[in-house]
Amino acid sequence: MCGIVGYVGFRPAANVIVEGLQKLEYRGYDSFGVATNNPCLEVYKCEGKISEKGERALNLHGTIGIGHTRWATHGVPSDRNAHPHLDCTGRIAVVHNGIIENYAALTRELAARGHVFRSETDTEVVAHLIEEYYDGSDLRDAVEKAIARLDGSYALLVTVEGSDVVVAARDCSPLVLGIGDQEVFAASDVTPLLGYTERVVYLEDGDLAEIDRTGWRIYSRGTPVQRPIEHVDWDVETVKKGGFPHFMLKEIFEQPKVFYDTLHGITEASLPERYRRPSEITVVACGSSYHAGLVFKYLCESTCRIPVRAELGSEFKYFTPPLKGIVTVITQSGETADTLAALKKAKAYNCPTLAITNVLGSTVTRIADHTLYMRAGPEISVAATKSFIAQLAVLMGLVDLMKGGNPFGAALERANSVIEEVLLLDIDKAVEICRPAEHLFYVGRGLFYPIALEGALKMKEISYIHAEGYAAGELKHGPFALLSTETPVVALCPPGDTYSIMLSNIKEMKARNAPIIGIGARGDRELTDIVDVFLPIPESHELVQLVATSVVLQQLAYRTAVALGRDVDQPRNLAKSVTVE
Ligand code: GLU
Repeated sequence: MCGIVGYVGFRPAANVIVEGLQKLEYRGYDSFGVATNNPCLEVYKCEGKISEKGERALNLHGTIGIGHTRWATHGVPSDRNAHPHLDCTGRIAVVHNGIIENYAALTRELAARGHVFRSETDTEVVAHLIEEYYDGSDLRDAVEKAIARLDGSYALLVTVEGSDVVVAARDCSPLVLGIGDQEVFAASDVTPLLGYTERVVYLEDGDLAEIDRTGWRIYSRGTPVQRPIEHVDWDVETVKKGGFPHFMLKEIFEQPKVFYDTLHGITEASLPERYRRPSEITVVACGSSYHAGLVFKYLCESTCRIPVRAELGSEFKYFTPPLKGIVTVITQSGETADTLAALKKAKAYNCPTLAITNVLGSTVTRIADHTLYMRAGPEISVAATKSFIAQLAVLMGLVDLMKGGNPFGAALERANSVIEEVLLLDIDKAVEICRPAEHLFYVGRGLFYPIALEGALKMKEISYIHAEGYAAGELKHGPFALLSTETPVVALCPPGDTYSIMLSNIKEMKARNAPIIGIGARGDRELTDIVDVFLPIPESHELVQLVATSVVLQQLAYRTAVALGRDVDQPRNLAKSVTVE
């Protein structure tokens, strides 16, 4: 997951790298490190967050360097395990995103040849392997030989003392070059490049790039290749907090515009004919994207009468379902390892594949046959908010296109104003109920069941309160045993088919003394009377209510996490772009 940044140019490299890593901190934040080439190698690394301790690395000298902000997979977060890792001579420095699966065997082999290891990471072996192959002049050749020995996933940046190049290599982990004037950048994604350059080159799996002040050269398994220069139009302001105390709150407040922009980005021209009437659809995704996939399943099956299966990316590769029709993958970053693995499997079955992502040029867009874009802009907070809403917009637009005749189009036009209204909702009393709780249930039925799952996920990931989403009818099949005055329930009770049965379910829960936060249509007296706290959604189309309810649940999680003093944007143990399986 981690973030990596490399720089070769005329600016103080440490400044560019620290500033860039701070923008990538959502990818990993347990430790960080920087190495510059001055031409002597200077290294600073330590446990902790680069946003808090980054200035300690600013006194490194030189205009060439590499840096890393870590999400540990092998070895605890510590100064010693922080990247960069060095070879025995201390002249070769390596930063790595991913997992070297055969590191144990390689470590044994190299230790037997006298190499001395100083960390518990899988990464360090790469520095020693390069040392084995380095002839003192051709770093590219040494890295080429080293990566040929690696199994697993990696985005690597390597520099060697005295040299004026940085070598970058990737396989199954993201890496992009930023092309400036007399300077070249390398990074895990484009955010560190914003403000320096809009010209980027996305490396592909198997690529190795040699960068120096004069430019870049890319090789694919030893053979020179050309990769196109692309333009990014994200603006630098979107990766700043803009006066909000947290990125998450800023991103929650961007949602009216994000929903509107994304919905209007899906037009007749967005979807080729072959995707319009498939015999079946398999949706594969992880986390919040999976919940959006479940919404799509309910909506598409009832509207278009096309069977839709929603699968978790991490499970998909462990069974071999009969794959027919189209396979749709949903991933905010476009780099989610489990989702990419599923996509590759779908391609092996010759299914037409459709990707839904937020990131132009990301790996998923290169593998899938066709891509639909969310227009959420960069999402920095680890918890998905505006990207989830944007996914709903894409998927609702997709159902509109598949059904033909634009069944939801007019209704969805109102969504942005309804989101604006619910952003101003007073939720203090609901926060008071959630804050002291150790366990929470979120329940809904039909289309609102995935929204209950998503609400619970949001709450647990940022507040650390144990929250479970349930299909309301399932509660009686076990979880009812847990209901008491200590286990509040957030009940989603919109008007429509599920309304009456939800009301009954709420009464059953009330009879077990569970405090209830009810979310339903504004003016619903009956619901208001039976719940402890009522959160009203303006009267609107069911799909608009669904979007608005998601926003209220995000706010509830955010406000509860803030009340508990949690690190909202960087919750413990998590990272945003899950690039390891
Ligand atoms: N596997 C490496 C480690 O644990 C890199 C992890 C990352 O991508 O941050 O240090």
